[in-house]
Amino acid sequence: MPGLDPGIHLLRKMLDCRVKPGNDGGGETMRCPNCNSLDTQVKDSRPTEDSSVIRRRRVCVACNFRFTTFERVQLRELTVIKRNGRRVPFDRDKLVRSVQISLRKRPVEPERVEQMVSAIVRELESGGEADISSETIGEIVMDHLRKLDDVAYVRFASVYRNFREAKDFEAVLGELSGDEDPRPALVRK
Ligand SMILES: [Zn+2]
Repeated sequence: MPGLDPGIHLLRKMLDCRVKPGNDGGGETMRCPNCNSLDTQVKDSRPTEDSSVIRRRRVCVACNFRFTTFERVQLRELTVIKRNGRRVPFDRDKLVRSVQISLRKRPVEPERVEQMVSAIVRELESGGEADISSETIGEIVMDHLRKLDDVAYVRFASVYRNFREAKDFEAVLGELSGDEDPRPALVRK
């Protein structure tokens, strides 16, 4: 997965681990991402800062590989209504990927990105609607990205809003600067 932050790549890898039915007393048994053994143990469990995620440090008994898993609460199943009318299940990983692309090479810590994505998902899940248009999701993502990183916000907005003309950029840059007149000197013709 070139271009992705290594932390996120690792996180995705961890989330891809298969869950075995049954219980080892400290969360589900996880397959070792290194050697595929199911003989792994939980060393430590604790909630993350905002308590929306339980973090478990694990060790593989077979190869001694150490890894971490994150367990999240899913409040409800969400369906995305795309612009062409197609319905697809909401995919958190897809959201992470699109946010990652807009944040490429930006100095933002992976934990802050993770917190932002959790906040977005919480907002979507507690919105009262199980069906959400991709437009609505895009607007919510832009709201959050704007607070995190200006450059990422403009990148995301330019793709999402499908900018064709310079004035579209001017409008977004105007939003960023908080001006009523959305024409900063930077892009004035
Ligand atoms: Zn192992």
